[in-house]
Parts: sequence; structure tokens; C-alpha cells
Amino acid sequence: MGLVLRAFTRRNLVAIFVGVLLAGVPLLALNFWLDGLIERQGQAEITTAARRAVALANSRFQLVIEALDNLAAQGVNSCRPDAIDAMRQAAFTAMPIKEVAIVDPDGQTQCTHLGLPLGQRNLTASVPMVGAEGYTLDVMQIANGQPMVRLRRKVGAGPNEIAALVPALLFLPQVSMEGNPFSAYAHIATRDGTIIGFTGERPKDSDARIAVKVPSEKFGFEAEIVAPRGMLPAEHAGLKWLGLFSAGVIAIILACVVLTIRRTPGNPVADIERALAAGEFVPYYQPIVDIRSGQLRGAEVLVRWRKEDGSLVLPGAFIPLAESSGLIREMTRDLMRRVCVEAGSAIGCRPGLKISFNFAGQLFSDESIVKDVCKIFSGSPIKLSQVVLELTERDPIENFTETRQVIAALQGLGVRIAIDDVGTGHSGLSYMLKLGVDIIKIDKMFVDAIGTDRNSTTIVGTLVDLAHNMRMDVVAEGVETFEQVMHLRELGIRSAQGYVFAPPLPGSAFLQLVEAIDPIAAPAEPNAATVASRSSAA
Ligand code: C2E
Ligand code: CA
Ligand code: CA
Repeated sequence: MGLVLRAFTRRNLVAIFVGVLLAGVPLLALNFWLDGLIERQGQAEITTAARRAVALANSRFQLVIEALDNLAAQGVNSCRPDAIDAMRQAAFTAMPIKEVAIVDPDGQTQCTHLGLPLGQRNLTASVPMVGAEGYTLDVMQIANGQPMVRLRRKVGAGPNEIAALVPALLFLPQVSMEGNPFSAYAHIATRDGTIIGFTGERPKDSDARIAVKVPSEKFGFEAEIVAPRGMLPAEHAGLKWLGLFSAGVIAIILACVVLTIRRTPGNPVADIERALAAGEFVPYYQPIVDIRSGQLRGAEVLVRWRKEDGSLVLPGAFIPLAESSGLIREMTRDLMRRVCVEAGSAIGCRPGLKISFNFAGQLFSDESIVKDVCKIFSGSPIKLSQVVLELTERDPIENFTETRQVIAALQGLGVRIAIDDVGTGHSGLSYMLKLGVDIIKIDKMFVDAIGTDRNSTTIVGTLVDLAHNMRMDVVAEGVETFEQVMHLRELGIRSAQGYVFAPPLPGSAFLQLVEAIDPIAAPAEPNAATVASRSSAA
């Protein structure tokens, strides 16, 4: 049972591992996808922010140009009071404009609408304005260090120009898409790369960052926004946590699905595993009879699956799967232990009785079964010399040398080996006999043909002769009629089993039959086991 539990736990661990693996892959994939999504979304958001910056700057340039065009239309090109009035009016109406001024051909300010003393103005760059004929764009700084943009144009034929001063910051984004203060780096620059104005701190070129440039079709400048990549997951932390949370939930669901699939009726191997742990595989006993004396010679153990609902399943429905899954080994060991507990004393106190177990071919290819058999029967009233192990001729032998060694080791313990279903397999009898077995069991197919088919009768006769020459016993299987019994007797066969005597019986019925056919007449030294057997059979 310990081994069952160990196997069970190991299988569950494998299931959990598979579950975590199945869940882990989507989790990693989701994380990977999410990273890609955040990156793509970040890129898209920054592109949108850059487009907004271009649109904002376009509209501000447009306002300033319209205001200056308006003044030019009025002929404002001097510092006369009426001109100053018109300039005041324009500055008041056009929101971005800080100052309207008259400048001379050298770019020096002559007067402004404010009438304030003219502070220091440093002109750092001067380029023709694209998209606005006759305009010049100056990049400058005023006394307090604030970066400014100045647009100027000629008015009529005079030498002076009319100019408007706008803080460079007004051409740059101030708030992020979410309404927070804009925190990335942004600038607008002329086509030749002269920076008109910038905001924020530019991430180093070596840092992971996302940079997007968007040109203004209208005025020919370019807006660039650069954001450090690390900023993106922070901004999308909620999304990432949501992703991780969903991936975690998927992981748990998948692990549960894998575990439940293994336990649901849809998985027959898991079903057998569970039934084995629950002790649902029980031994039935088919008596083997001496057809000359009518005495009981023993029984063959045939497994039945007694389900929780009381229904019985025949071995044909689960033995192949138990064999292919490797569970047959534990099932056979469990069956032997159960027989020891249930019928051990009844068999043990009748040394003439033999008890046969069906052993799948694979059990003979592993030496450890010798120890298992020895251990199971050493603590039981059943002597090893009463045990018969049946190896079927139907399955091919995978490792002949190993099988032969295991058979020899078992015979060394006193156990006898039978070849089951003789005449039906593909290995060939002579090949099977090289294993050095003790008993051959003639298949029902031949038993049915005896008396009606001459060839079969001859084959069985030859088998019997062969067996006797090799000092092997013969058991006939599937005997259903009295005529068959007569023919088998004539052929010199002594042991037979079949419905004519008894079908496979549950433990209690078998024990009653044993007591009835072979009563033990007040043994000289009754032992506890015998008494127990009698009371359970009663
Ligand atoms: P088998 O070893 O050849 O067992 C004889 C089968 O013939 C049994 O079928 C038995 O119920 C049936 N039988 C017995 N007498 C008669 C009869 O007079 N007429 C007819 N028609 N059938 C009869 P069962 O119990 O369904 O077992 C089928 C097979 O399953 C067995 O064939 C054996 O190969 C396998 N098996 C049963 N128990 C075990 C087990 O514990 N371990 C392994 N590895 N195989 C088992
Ligand atoms: Ca058998
Ligand atoms: Ca058989």
C-alpha cells in the first residue's frame, strides 16, 4: 500500500508539474505579449502626444501670424501712438503673444506695445518661416533667461518690421494625455535642426527609450518626444498587474483541470489507480478438480473489479490497461496479499491444494518479483510450494534470458510455473517449454474441439504425452460438459477447471466449497489460522 501511495503521490506530482508547465507557458506568453502591448501602446501614446504638440504649435503660430498680418494690413510699422494702440489691441486679442514690437532691419527692438524699458534680448538663431511667406522666425532669450520665439514680417515698403514675442513653452505640450503634468522630454525644432523650444530632460541616448518625431506639414517644423522606457510599465502598472493576476488565475485553473482530468471517469488509468488504492480489486476463485477422484486440487485466482455501486467488472475490461500502465504489478501483489488474508488458512491447512495466480509477462522480466512473492507468502499459512504462477502463451516474451532466470529463481523458492492458454499464442510451445515450466494449461478452444475434431483431439493427446515425458502436469480449462470430462479422462488428463464443476467464486463461497468437499476432520493440532478459516466459512 505504501508503494501505491508513493506511486500515487509521484503521479500527482507529475500532474501538478504538467499543470504548472501548461499554465506557465501561457503565463510567460501573456507576460511577453503584455510587454509587447505596453511597448506598442507606449509608442502609440507618444506618437499621439507628438501629433498633439504639432497641432498645438500650428494653431499658436497661426494665431500669431494672423495677428501680425492684421497689423500689417493696418500699416503698423512705426512707434507712433496710433500704431502702439493697434499693437496693444493685437496683443490683447491674440492669447499667446507676450509682446508686439517694431524692430529695425538689424532685428533691434524699437518700441513695444507695453512701453516698458527694453530689457536684454539675445538672438540665438534666425530662420525664414516655412509656410508663412515673408516671415522670419527668431529664437531668443530675454533678460530673465526665458526662451522666446519671435515672428516678424515686413510691412509695406518701409525698413521696419512688425514682430510678436511668444514664450517658447507655449509651443510645447504642458499636460500628458491623462491630464497629468507632462513629464517626458519634448522639443520643436526647425527643419535644419535649430531647437525652437524644449521641455523636460532628454534621456541619455544610451538609456532604453522611445523617441517619436512628427513633422508639421503646415509650418515645416518638427516635434520630437522622448520618454524613458522604464516610464511605460510604471504608467501601465495597473494593466500589468491585471495581466499577472489573470495569468495566475489561468495557472491555477489549468493545474486544477490537469488534476481533475486525472481523477474523472474520463481517465481510465487514474480510475484504476484510485480503485487500487480503495481496494476494489478482489480475488475470485475457480476450483481446479481431479477428474479421476473428484477431489479438489486447488483454485485459480481470477481478479474482479467490485465497484463502489456493487457492480462487478470482468478482467478483460481492465487488465490490458493495467498492464500497459504498469499498474498490473501492484494489482497482482495486492491480489496475492488479499488471498493470503481471505483464504490463507483454508489453503495452508490443506497442503495438497494449489493456488494459481495469473502473472502478466512483464512481471517475469523483473527479478524484484521474486522477493515480492517470497515476502508476501512468508507471513502467510500458504506455503510457497502451494503457489502456482501462470504465464500466458498469448503475450510474446520480451526478454527470454531474464524471464528464464526469474522463473528459475521462483522455482528455487518452491513455486511452480504454468503456461496458460497453451495452443493459442504465437511464441510456439517448444519455445515456451525452454523456460522450464512445471504445468501446461490447455486452452478451452482445444477442450471444446475434443471429440468433435480429430486434429484437436490428436493435438491434445500429443500435448499430454509431451507433458508426461517432461514431467509436467496438465490442466484442461473451460470444461463445460460431462462428455468433455470423459474425453479428457480418456486422454490421460487429471486436472480440469470449468463451469461443469464451478464458475469463479467469491471468497466466501469458495471457502464454503472447500469445507464441503475437503472437510478437515478435527485436526490434531488446530492452529489459530484453521479456526479462523472455519468460522469465516461457516
Ligand atoms: P484465463 O487465465 O484463461 O482464465 C480463464 C477464463 O475463463 C476466466 O475468465 C474464467 O472465468 C473463464 N472460464 C472458466 N471456466 C470457464 C468455462 O467453463 N467456460 C467459459 N466460457 N469460460 C470459463 P475471466 O475471469 O474473465 O478472466 C479472463 C482473463 O483475464 C484470464 O484468462 C486471465 O488471462 C486474465 N486475468 C484474470 N485475472 C487476472 C489477474 O489477476 N492477473 C492477470 N494478469 N490476468 C488476469
Ligand atoms: Ca489463467
Ligand atoms: Ca487460460
